[in-house]
Amino acid sequence: MSEQHKINVTIWNENRHEKNSEEVADLYPKGMHGAIADFLSKDAEITVKTATLDEPEHGLTEKVLNSTDVLIWWGHIAHDEVSDEVVGKIYDRVIDGMGLIVLHSAHYSKIFRKLMGTNCNLKWRVAGEKERLWVIEPGHPIAEGLEEYFEIPNSEMYGERFDIPTPDQLVFISWFEGGEVLRSGCCYFRGKGKIFYFRPGHETYPIFYQNEVKKVITNSVKWAAPINGPITKPGFAKPIEIITNDYVDYSE
Ligand code: ZN
Repeated sequence: MSEQHKINVTIWNENRHEKNSEEVADLYPKGMHGAIADFLSKDAEITVKTATLDEPEHGLTEKVLNSTDVLIWWGHIAHDEVSDEVVGKIYDRVIDGMGLIVLHSAHYSKIFRKLMGTNCNLKWRVAGEKERLWVIEPGHPIAEGLEEYFEIPNSEMYGERFDIPTPDQLVFISWFEGGEVLRSGCCYFRGKGKIFYFRPGHETYPIFYQNEVKKVITNSVKWAAPINGPITKPGFAKPIEIITNDYVDYSE
């Protein structure tokens, strides 16, 4: 694949736990965005940059957003600090075709809730329990290279009901040791944009170093990347065929 056809990925991280918690800083010395950038940048089809909350415009200037094919989003304790103006610009870019990968606690981010139109709340528990993710759509591009299921040995539990619209495509369902289940890999189409919500990614567990998680995120970037599709033309449409009745009006 030539340089100009690479997928430009921007990995956005709130980057607060890494600053406030020694445990998280030890686990992710480059930040979770840095850990994700490390494995994505090894893929020949992908180029990465990162952006964080405390940068001017959260690191998401118009120039950055306009050159981003897929935006990855991790947030948790500072969703409210993300400016509505930036959220509006991200929303417009998604409708116009930019892919969006929403990780873990970003289920409650402004941008995901705006795109879903629902509350997006769920049950949760941090007990280091096992999570088993079942692939329920084995032909889906995001499941490429996976087994029937994979396990995360220590995970935060997220449980149903997860207040989201019914996904357009559901790739994973998670089971947790404590008994709950969750729709944990959810695809949506909004305008020309593709959105993937992926549940794993709690900050105190080494989840972004796990091979299956890396594979899913890499696959989802490729799935969510914009395609060179048709330009649709809304509004008055002159008939393509001649309509043979007495009532047709060709005026606009
Ligand atoms: Zn968490």
